[in-house]
Amino acid sequence: MNSNQNNRVAWLRGPAAKCSEPATEVARPWRLVLLGAPGVGKGTQAALLARHSGACHLSTGDVFREATSHNLREQTLAMSAALNFMSKGSLVPDAIVWQLVRERADCLHCAGGFLLDGFPRTLAQAGALRHLLQSQGIELDAVVSYELPNSELVSRLSGRRTCANCKAVFHLTARAPHFAGVCDSCGGVLYQREDDQPEAIAVRLEAYERSTAPLIEFYRNAGLLVSVSASGEPEQICIRTLAALELRRLNRTARPEMIGAETFAP
Ligand code: AMP
Repeated sequence: MNSNQNNRVAWLRGPAAKCSEPATEVARPWRLVLLGAPGVGKGTQAALLARHSGACHLSTGDVFREATSHNLREQTLAMSAALNFMSKGSLVPDAIVWQLVRERADCLHCAGGFLLDGFPRTLAQAGALRHLLQSQGIELDAVVSYELPNSELVSRLSGRRTCANCKAVFHLTARAPHFAGVCDSCGGVLYQREDDQPEAIAVRLEAYERSTAPLIEFYRNAGLLVSVSASGEPEQICIRTLAALELRRLNRTARPEMIGAETFAP
């Protein structure tokens, strides 16, 4: 377990803000993209992987939610437009997302590595990221694709409740809080994210199929894809992911010609 956790402020609020403490250098940092449909548990996995590996959790969705919670909606027209798309469950236009990521490109040099969560989400974003990484001399280690049947995705999303204060995530049945509507960690009020409402869930799943699923093929062709089953307990899935990544690293070191797609199921 790695205690190398900063508060991600440079990512969440933009380059004018500085993280509370710089990340400690890690001998072999992970530089990963996490893919998966809404509800698959990418955010939870990113947080666990960050704790285990010291890599910084870079979520574009968190940047938008941070803007909402700090009432930055009015700050720029682009952010205001982005939050409107987000509340309906639609993808934010590439140009807005790309500007946000480009402004935060220093985070890709984080000494602990990085876990991109929720970005890229379209082929255009994936192409732009590839150019950015190339131009900065950064190599991705792998792209983890979390897999789960659609019926389970819907049940995970519709039962999800988030703490308004500390952002801890609960589930009405799978991870129920001790007192209904109250966060176990900080006593904050639990609420249902606007984009976890039934109409928005349908829009998000459709957007994933149309725009993001093609990235699986894109990264498989690039020899970066590692598929991991997302069923089971979060810690179990995290261990499965780390095992898959370590094995890939071993294979690449021992047999560099064997760079291809791998699949890990329980
Ligand atoms: P997430 O927390 O990753 O599920 O993101 C929440 C919402 O933010 C998504 O449903 C989109 O509306 C928006 N969003 C986050 N990242 C992106 C992205 N890379 N491209 C387009 N929209 C995004």
